[in-house]
Amino acid sequence: DRMKESRVYLRALFDYTPYEDKATPCQEAGLPFKRRDILQVVSQDDATWWQAKRVGDCSLRAALIPSTQFQERSADTGEEAPSPTTRKDRQEPKTPDANQADFRIYEEVTQYLPRPGDRPRLIVLIGSVGARISELKQQLIAENPRRYGLAVPHTTRARKCHEREGIEYHFITRAAFESDIHNGKFIEYGEYKDNLYGTSLESIHKVLSQNKVCLMDVQPEVLKTLRTAEFKPFIIFVKPHVTESQKKHGSSSSLGFMITEEDLQEMKSSAERMDECYGHWVDYILVKEDPASALAELQLVLDRVQLEPQWVPASWLR
Ligand code: 5GP
Repeated sequence: DRMKESRVYLRALFDYTPYEDKATPCQEAGLPFKRRDILQVVSQDDATWWQAKRVGDCSLRAALIPSTQFQERSADTGEEAPSPTTRKDRQEPKTPDANQADFRIYEEVTQYLPRPGDRPRLIVLIGSVGARISELKQQLIAENPRRYGLAVPHTTRARKCHEREGIEYHFITRAAFESDIHNGKFIEYGEYKDNLYGTSLESIHKVLSQNKVCLMDVQPEVLKTLRTAEFKPFIIFVKPHVTESQKKHGSSSSLGFMITEEDLQEMKSSAERMDECYGHWVDYILVKEDPASALAELQLVLDRVQLEPQWVPASWLR
């Protein structure tokens, strides 16, 4: 029985570099991996070191990865890890939330392809500064109005002159928004630059009832709430392409607007922050060079979500 191979697939939620890990029994035996890599665990016989392969890396033999239990203990404050070497040298998965329940180690995943008749997966976009995702979203819908729809969010911010009530947003007062929160209308909401934004369950159902794929863009903090079996969100992180030449010349038209050195710095650090804090939940990273190629790439990715199996948390299908 001990010889039986397990067929567990894990998504890595942290980067692992065996050569920097003094606790690895033999550093050449370790499997280096990055966040978002999918690992096939072939043996969990040992409580401390599992044997795994990286999916998509068929040439490789199984190598060692730290077990969840080991990684949890090493990242923890107290207990000694079951290793002869000192636990001070262990790499800790980064936990900006400092939330014990939030330790990012692995997530068990399985492949999922919606069958005909299944509800299409919710498409969630997050964007760092300069990504202009609402533009991208509107273009996608404009090109494929029968296929994609927008879960129209509610907001308390003032309507801009090109915006239409019920198209970009439902514009409501803060009092109305707060009462909607109280009545549980929103599946998610958040505050951004002193304004409230939120998506109601009703606005998602409205799109789904028209047999369309539902798009939404949110602040990344709410991803956690949206990642449920009910919506099976496919999460796309859009970030602007920042090149050295743009930095040197200080301006660029490739993104469709003028940029200063300061803007570029802000774009870069915003993308880094977002990746650091939320990258482990992201299914696809879209680097936006110019609006047209970003739209084409988005369309390709969304086709794949409907045609090819994607890795999702195993808990969604149980
Ligand atoms: P804007 O005011 O420029 O239209 O949107 C600003 C930001 O508000 C967006 O980039 C996005 O982060 C956030 N936002 C827009 N819609 C929603 C929503 O439905 N829910 C949440 N939580 N944030 C939203």
